[in-house]
Amino acid sequence: MDKILDGSALAKKIRTNLKVQTEEYINKYQIVPHLAVILVGTDPASETYVRFKEKACHQVGMKSTLINLPEDISEEKLIEEIEKLNNDKSIHGILLQLPIPKHLDSEKIINLINPEKDVDGFANENVAKLCKNQDALVPCTPLGIIRLLEEYNIKTQGEHCVILGRSQIVGKPMAQLMLQKNSTVTICHSKTKNLKEIAKQADILIAAIGKAHMVDETFIKDGAVVIDVGVSRINGKIYGDVDFDKVIDKVSYITPMPGGTGPMTIACLLENTLKCYLNLVE
Ligand code: NAP
Repeated sequence: MDKILDGSALAKKIRTNLKVQTEEYINKYQIVPHLAVILVGTDPASETYVRFKEKACHQVGMKSTLINLPEDISEEKLIEEIEKLNNDKSIHGILLQLPIPKHLDSEKIINLINPEKDVDGFANENVAKLCKNQDALVPCTPLGIIRLLEEYNIKTQGEHCVILGRSQIVGKPMAQLMLQKNSTVTICHSKTKNLKEIAKQADILIAAIGKAHMVDETFIKDGAVVIDVGVSRINGKIYGDVDFDKVIDKVSYITPMPGGTGPMTIACLLENTLKCYLNLVE
């Protein structure tokens, strides 16, 4: 049996469907879904991510506009830019590429984005809705992981899901989504005692810590499903949190790196952009 949860293949399928849907909606409403991407500064990794996101939008027939702002922009100026986009009826989604420079209060800025245009699902209103099982814009990486688990009919009900990492972007929303899927959820973080022993109890292990190849075969229960979210760049090479070669014999399913959670994140960004568009134009 093939053990690979092929994020590239599923992302391609989602994008193909989205392209058809986008064309239909453009014909129906005569309005093109439009994502605004704000990039503050010139961080090379952020620039690369932004390029991928823009390209993905164009491939499915959506419009994307990059707003590239200087590293030393004042908070007031950035807020002005966001308000402009909030008020612009032709913009349906707003994405603030993180991280932003340290002199800017990212929590404050994120919460100034109109929650209806919050394609990343990071604003308080969307976080609260997710926690209350209400219809929300859900952060793209955890949403992509749910789509992958569903595509491969991975059993979640009653399963023990251990999540490594408790960030607002991945770990916490992931936990909410797995609770909605009726898993029993444990979240681990840098202060967790006996992390390896806990990880070894997981039926589904989701690693989102950003520590290259930290998870080896000693963290894995036989037959576990392993999802690798981590991305670490070392000497120009990219590593996941999971040492794929060491764990492959023990797992029932695993996401590859690359080609696992990364492409799914972008596909779900497009899904969220269309969701924002429909909420605003319908
Ligand atoms: P983050 O905000 O830095 O959070 C990392 C989490 O990991 C924190 O909760 C931290 O614990 C925990 N942690 C760090 N070292 C640990 C250790 N040795 N043992 C246990 N827990 C540890 O990162 P993030 O934004 O969630 O991203 C996590 C990783 O996923 C990064 O590598 C990022 O690049 C990657 N990522 C990938 C995608 C994708 O599409 N594949 C999308 C987003 C992010 P504390 O809370 O105690 O500090």
